[in-house]
Amino acid sequence: MYKEKIMKKIIIYLSLVLSVIFNFGCCESKAEVSESIKVSLINRMGFIIYLEDNHVVVIDGGFASDAPLLELLLKNKIIDAWFITHLHDDHVGAFNTLMVQGDLEVETIYYSKYSPNIYYTLEPQHNVKETYEMFCSAIENQNAVAVNTNDHIYIDGIDFHVILSGLDTIDEINDTSMILKIEEYSVLFLADATKREGECLMEEHEEDLASNIVQLGHHGGKSVSKDVYEKINPIVGIWSFDPDFVRTNKFFIEVKEWLDEIGVIYHINIADQKKSVVVYKNGDFHIKR
Ligand SMILES: [Zn+2]
Ligand SMILES: [Zn+2]
Repeated sequence: MYKEKIMKKIIIYLSLVLSVIFNFGCCESKAEVSESIKVSLINRMGFIIYLEDNHVVVIDGGFASDAPLLELLLKNKIIDAWFITHLHDDHVGAFNTLMVQGDLEVETIYYSKYSPNIYYTLEPQHNVKETYEMFCSAIENQNAVAVNTNDHIYIDGIDFHVILSGLDTIDEINDTSMILKIEEYSVLFLADATKREGECLMEEHEEDLASNIVQLGHHGGKSVSKDVYEKINPIVGIWSFDPDFVRTNKFFIEVKEWLDEIGVIYHINIADQKKSVVVYKNGDFHIKR
């Protein structure tokens, strides 16, 4: 197991070196583009996945205040899909704002559907009711599809696998977090997965977890436990939080220690907004500045 991991790291390292050599001073060929996607962290909890020919997929998008940036980045793009992991305003706020304004065309919106009751009763301190009602307005007259656990959604031939659409019993809104994996490119998004979601992943979806690149649970050590990260066994960790907070908050220090023990080599965080990960179909990747 240890040897396998060392070999995997050597292969990834060599491919990184080679990709730097071959990309230096030249343009990406058409063939290379078709073999890769670019995953870009645009704010704390917003990702744009750049596909071929100006097509994109968006995951969450951040607060309402992030809407202008998102609008700028998505200008003249064809938005094939927008995944909303759950209805906290730091994830769905920008989407709600842009869609209610009618500024964007999105082919299909994917979300996890729950009884309105949970949004009316849980976490009044987070204005969840208002966020939910705005989301309902945002997807009105749109092609919005409720996902289920184990759905495979093919976009431009790429398998977006809903490993978990959220838990059946909800104690907090984060229990509704959609866990999504871009299968061919080995990229996993944990959104705001809770400890209980982590337990469900280990019990029922363990074989789906292994991924080279992972968006770490948004709540650090309060999110999934170390055993989930061991199963994922990532090489790149994407932190959806400010680096100063990560360095000083005990829940994030804890996760960093786990990742060091697991052997995660690269960390991308909100301060690296201009960094993207270009991921190839065979799971190789390079970090682009
Ligand atoms: Zn959340
Ligand atoms: Zn969050």
